[in-house]
Amino acid sequence: MKFCPKCEVRLKKSNNTSAICPKCGYSESTAKKNKKETKEELSKFNIIEGDEGKETLSTIKIDCEKCGNNEAVWWMLQTRSADEPTTQFYRCTKCRHTWRNYA
Ligand SMILES: [Zn+2]
Ligand SMILES: [Zn+2]
Repeated sequence: MKFCPKCEVRLKKSNNTSAICPKCGYSESTAKKNKKETKEELSKFNIIEGDEGKETLSTIKIDCEKCGNNEAVWWMLQTRSADEPTTQFYRCTKCRHTWRNYA
């Protein structure tokens, strides 16, 4: 059970994802925070490294520095720290060379 930080009244559950203070109307999310997010992102990266899942990726016109092919699949990956910017990865559709874009 959660309590209102202002009036210390027990919060009333309003729906599946939030609870509300009957006194002041303060509401708080009761949904469990997903701390696995980063791990899931990383496992997504691992799946992409294999053959599975590549059909679901979008392609982009970009030059491959290895073979000169001009098409690559791309995906975004949030690095460990939330402060760091999301990294964009590319993989050549021809030689499968993978690189990243820090921009
Ligand atoms: Zn309250
Ligand atoms: Zn290539």
